[in-house]
Amino acid sequence: MSGTGFEGRSVVVTGAASGIGRAAALMFAEEGAKVLVTDLDKAGADETAKVIETAGGTAVAVAGDLSDPQVVDEVVATAVRTFGSLDVLVNNAGIGDSMSALADVEDAEWERVIRVNLTAPFLLTRAALPHMLAAGHGRIVFTASEAGFRGSVSGTAYTASKHGVVGLVKSLAVMYRKQGIRTNAIAPGGTQTNILTNSLGMEPEKMTALVNTVSGQAQSDGGAAPHGPTILRDILRSNPGRRSTPEEQAAVIVFLASDAAEMINGVILPVDDGWSAV
Ligand code: NAD
Repeated sequence: MSGTGFEGRSVVVTGAASGIGRAAALMFAEEGAKVLVTDLDKAGADETAKVIETAGGTAVAVAGDLSDPQVVDEVVATAVRTFGSLDVLVNNAGIGDSMSALADVEDAEWERVIRVNLTAPFLLTRAALPHMLAAGHGRIVFTASEAGFRGSVSGTAYTASKHGVVGLVKSLAVMYRKQGIRTNAIAPGGTQTNILTNSLGMEPEKMTALVNTVSGQAQSDGGAAPHGPTILRDILRSNPGRRSTPEEQAAVIVFLASDAAEMINGVILPVDDGWSAV
């Protein structure tokens, strides 16, 4: 990508031990940025930094739980101390939940998902803002989700957390646009990463069965079925199409943080092969 404006810039990427975050960290480094990779997974974060350095780039890894304010402070302080600035923040780290119906969601699960997916990015953004404001320049990109656009038949805490992320992104865009700070998000559809299998534990067949049950397709007890168009929409939604690669998501993160996206602010950009258009 030419004219991205990342040469010498300092970029923090959370959740950079694997998946979308790792792919984004590698791409920013390829564009000439100095990258702080951070993740709960120390071995994975170290590995991402090593890959960048082996390729001739500049990286530092900070391991820790980003829902812990002390870890957040350490991340921001390390970026500023090591690289001299904090120009781009990518709030990408996230976890899924057990995809239980609302009545079955335990307090601890709710609090953990909200804390990691919503509170941690808030804490990190709040800690990074003074440095961006002092520089009169900042780019913040969140990884929201297709689950940030509409209600879900399960995954209540995850869906609520990603709707919260959407609100955070829009508020930041409105609040800080005059100070040179742009905030946007990608909203991935299904992406081939650990979170799909490890956290959500939802294989496509299971997902389809769940959506069919909710839409009335699998009812054999004569229960009230929804109207035709609703059934059609649910069936289409239950088929999200091709899963993307982490790199296909990361490329859009890099674009949103780049100079090429100067007029884009407060946008939640679906990266889902049209799934959210259904
Ligand atoms: P992933 O599991 O490969 O990556 C998530 C990373 O976040 C992991 O490396 C994990 O260790 C890290 N992490 C989790 N909790 C953390 C914490 N408390 N502190 C620090 N790091 C923590 O999965 P991914 O798909 O690359 O996930 C990245 C983002 O993409 C998440 O926010 C996820 O919600 C979002 N997303 C993914 C999909 C998908 O289908 N994969 C779809 C929509 C949105």
